[in-house]
Amino acid sequence: MTDKEELRDEIPSYAYISLARRGMEKISLDQCFLKNCDNDSSELLEPFKKEEFEDDKKKITKIHIKCKKCEGTFILKLENVKSVAKSTKEIEEEPLSMGLVFALDEEGNNLGHIGYF
Ligand SMILES: [Zn+2]
Repeated sequence: MTDKEELRDEIPSYAYISLARRGMEKISLDQCFLKNCDNDSSELLEPFKKEEFEDDKKKITKIHIKCKKCEGTFILKLENVKSVAKSTKEIEEEPLSMGLVFALDEEGNNLGHIGYF
């Protein structure tokens, strides 16, 4: 069993949305991404399940979240693209990576690309 607080720690607090020439906008991921729901309180969001997939190109973490306001369930999909750049340095160096955040509904239908983390 995974502890709920542990799951919460897996979720980045913010994502960044690119605004073309106006830079990046920071948005909170503590919100319900389901249609017609305006819940933005982390108290009313309960992460309850995590799935992880990894290959040599990317790591995908899916966190299933129950919204206590609309009673719906959605999935935050965190996609970490591993750097293709070759490193000549020692292994302690973190590989460069970029994260993408998507929201999915309960059936796994894409609700949209939220941004970067
Ligand atoms: Zn909701």
